[in-house]
Amino acid sequence: MSEPSGARRGRLLRRSRPVDCSHFAGATFKEAGDVVGCEECLKIGGEWVHLRRCMVCGKVGCCNDSPNTHAAKHYAETGHAVMRSVEPGEAWGYCYVDDVGIADVASIR
Ligand SMILES: [Zn+2]
Ligand SMILES: [Zn+2]
Ligand SMILES: [Zn+2]
Repeated sequence: MSEPSGARRGRLLRRSRPVDCSHFAGATFKEAGDVVGCEECLKIGGEWVHLRRCMVCGKVGCCNDSPNTHAAKHYAETGHAVMRSVEPGEAWGYCYVDDVGIADVASIR
């Protein structure tokens, strides 16, 4: 899988201050888990750019740079607010509701 240069790290971290968001606190799926690809893209033969994992139910979807933006669609359909990157070496998370990113989901208590 190729990846555009410069797109690797922290693109969604629009705010770096401490997160005032309650959604990460209830997140169950903090680990990257066993990821083979975007679950919906695999069904339809689609392609993805980066992979995100829902931290509420664990579903893997593709990022907004991907043609099908399944991670954002998953939020729209389910209301599951928080996801994390499952790209190698990345552990940042993002809350759709509050539009905040955190640098490392492992820091969640
Ligand atoms: Zn939130
Ligand atoms: Zn997808
Ligand atoms: Zn979910």
